[in-house]
Amino acid sequence: MLQSVNVGHKSLADYATIATRGLMDEILRLAEPLAGKRVVHLSATAFGGGVAEINYTLIPLMQSAGLDTEWRIIHGQDEFFNVTKTIHNALQGNPQGLTPEQIEIFERYQALNAKEIDPNEYDYMIVHDPQPVGMIDHFAGSTAKWIWRGHIDFSTPNWDVFNVLLPSIKRYDAVIFHMHEYVPKTDGLPECYIWPPAIDPLAPKNMALSAEDAAYIVDQFGIDVERPMLTQVSRFDPWKDPLGVIDAYRIVKESYPDVQLALVGSMAHDDPEGWDFYNQTVDYAAGDPDIYILSNLNNVGSVEVNAFQVHSAAVLQKSIREGFGLTVSEALWKSRPTVAGNVGGIVTQIQDGQTGWLVDSSAECAEACLEILADPGMARDRARAGKEYVRRHFLTPRLLRDWLVLFNRLIGNETDAEIDTVAAAR
Ligand code: UDP
Repeated sequence: MLQSVNVGHKSLADYATIATRGLMDEILRLAEPLAGKRVVHLSATAFGGGVAEINYTLIPLMQSAGLDTEWRIIHGQDEFFNVTKTIHNALQGNPQGLTPEQIEIFERYQALNAKEIDPNEYDYMIVHDPQPVGMIDHFAGSTAKWIWRGHIDFSTPNWDVFNVLLPSIKRYDAVIFHMHEYVPKTDGLPECYIWPPAIDPLAPKNMALSAEDAAYIVDQFGIDVERPMLTQVSRFDPWKDPLGVIDAYRIVKESYPDVQLALVGSMAHDDPEGWDFYNQTVDYAAGDPDIYILSNLNNVGSVEVNAFQVHSAAVLQKSIREGFGLTVSEALWKSRPTVAGNVGGIVTQIQDGQTGWLVDSSAECAEACLEILADPGMARDRARAGKEYVRRHFLTPRLLRDWLVLFNRLIGNETDAEIDTVAAAR
């Protein structure tokens, strides 16, 4: 059997004070006909990155809504994760393709993992991202509804690589993308659903933390809490552009010599490139004592990430590509001035000039930080507007609602709930 993840317990009722009454009522209505349905989520890792972050909340809330939901992790060795990393990069547009050996490795692990699960035990099989996408090939005739959830930007994929996955994707009953722009422009996709992910306002990562508590935690990492700090929280990945963040910080430092930079990044086990890039980032920082490069290896967990975000003068997410960028909603939810790359899903979260800053270069990123440091009142107003936007669009109850709408539709239950779709192009 594939390893099951213990997600703990959450109660939908606890979210009633944060979500609107209308939304909570709709969730209960949608969940009623789904009581007892068996759902499994399949993904590559239970640790690090957006999928894990979402599942730790979504799954207990599906359980609380009455669905019998579990989360299982596929098996993989480095040889597999090296291939899936190449696939991930290629799907976001990297020209490097797959060798026949790599395709063989990918397919071998799909078969291996397929042996470890029986879809007849479930009503819904939810497959996250490309790593397990091909398991479905081994279950012709399965009665479960299969849903593939793509979490990255597929708008300009390397088609050679996408076409390796396409025959598997075509077998699904539905696929989900964050944005319309991400639906790959190709024939034969199943019905596509469009909805963004969400953050959990009650999780340790996002729960209310006082400025004093945040400073107390950040102080333990050696940060001088009396001096301004910029923070980026993200995996060590070229698409997140930590080197560009360091460039921006260096420009800011010319005007604010006091400024400090925290780069907080977890190391996911399905990301073998992470270590190389971590080392590159450390080299690029060139021993600057005001740059703090921290990770889960320094015991930076959810509460610490929360504290770093809360304590920051500005939170950065200077991505060059970004599927969604949960860290942006996380920062806005904490009313922090947020400066982020003008790309991908970030654009749905920030209205430039109103709820945050969208930037196209390190120079623009630095300029935004300088504005924030020069006029904290203006920056706070923008950040507060950002928090309200997140409240309406990017909190978990809305995400749960979208899933429940889809589950109902796939088994033919009529509901009057609206959902954004792109019709199947068979
Ligand atoms: N994250 C974390 N610790 C880290 C780095 C990232 O907890 O050191 C979390 C971050 O707070 C966010 C998620 O991992 O919740 C990253 O999701 P995002 O959508 O921003 O990026 P992805 O990693 O999925 O590309």
